[in-house]
Amino acid sequence: MKPILPPAMLGILGGGQLGRMFAVAARTMGYRVTVLDPDPAAPAAAFADVHLCRPYTDEAALHTLADSCAAVTTEFENVNADSMRWLAAQGVPVSPSGDCVAIAQDRIAEKTFVRQAGLATAPFLAVRTARDLEGDLSPYLPGILKTARLGYDGKGQARVETAEAARYALSEFKHQPCVLEKLMPLQTEISVIVTRSARNEVTSFPVAENQHAGGILDVSIVPARVPAGVAERARAMAMQLAEALDYVGVLAVEFFVLQDDTLVINEMAPRPHNSGHYTLDATLTSQFEQQVRAMCGLYPGRTELLSPVVMVNLLGDVWGETGEEPDWEILLTAPNTKLHLYGKAQARIGRKMGHFNVLAASAEDALEQAQAIRETLP
Ligand code: ADP
Ligand code: MG
Repeated sequence: MKPILPPAMLGILGGGQLGRMFAVAARTMGYRVTVLDPDPAAPAAAFADVHLCRPYTDEAALHTLADSCAAVTTEFENVNADSMRWLAAQGVPVSPSGDCVAIAQDRIAEKTFVRQAGLATAPFLAVRTARDLEGDLSPYLPGILKTARLGYDGKGQARVETAEAARYALSEFKHQPCVLEKLMPLQTEISVIVTRSARNEVTSFPVAENQHAGGILDVSIVPARVPAGVAERARAMAMQLAEALDYVGVLAVEFFVLQDDTLVINEMAPRPHNSGHYTLDATLTSQFEQQVRAMCGLYPGRTELLSPVVMVNLLGDVWGETGEEPDWEILLTAPNTKLHLYGKAQARIGRKMGHFNVLAASAEDALEQAQAIRETLP
């Protein structure tokens, strides 16, 4: 592939915060950006040259992307995979491919693929109909029933102790396809962002250690506080998965680290990931620049960590009941802290409104300072 160079127009499906940070990276490099997102207040629109405010399957909008963009990518996995396949059929380089996105958006396809690639997952059962829950479920219990599609931030999940509870949970999910997955003894959770180019250059960012609160990512700590061997294995597994998928672009892979240091793959996201936001400030290349480079057929940028870093998510909860803007002064006064707000007009409980990165001499220092800053917020 001949590299696509500035000022080419790049297209992105989805205009949330990931699309916004992608647009900033692309425009910084001199590219132009077209965002397709039906929301008139899409956070990415403020940084886009063109905002196509249309549904993801809108034919006229897809024609505009095909006609005006040198390459197209996505910022969320629930985009219509057929829209991506259609764009590719028009001759536009689309990365990742619609096929990869289709795998990532269905937990049954995703976990089956990971297994077939020779990589470990938690024991799981594909539940397509109620009949799949009639056999012996003991290998998967106690477990979590997860809807195969459209789950995120812990939504579409039910913890179940018994077969009866699993069957009840399935009816609560209106019998949509699910996976029943065994509850694993987690030591910690980590993630790896890997980038693969069309020429099979594969790079990965340093491993992030992730802490969740209420099913939503709360804090990422980098470098992850796991043995070096565990981090190396996670990076190797993520790269192996990207190769097995014949993936082009940025891929996030989430892992469980079990009590005995074994790694299992939890899930993947076919795009930059919340746990990779530390790369905006602590690596030479951010995950968003890496996405631009991958889709344009450029060499990936360097990924080594320049400083230990802790990323803290800012959810709408910080705005409180009144929706009043928090006082950012203390945060902005700290010289080693970088604030990123996504420009969302409405703060809601659990909504991702922004994040901040704290860079310090060690991950422990960064964590301590991040916690001190957080205590100043509502
Ligand atoms: P989501 O798409 O909502 O991120 P995940 O499958 O990643 O869904 O689950 C969210 C969180 O729930 C995980 O990060 C982990 O903390 C916990 N969890 C999910 N599956 C398991 C499991 N099999 N064993 C233990 N904890 C789990
Ligand atoms: Mg997850």
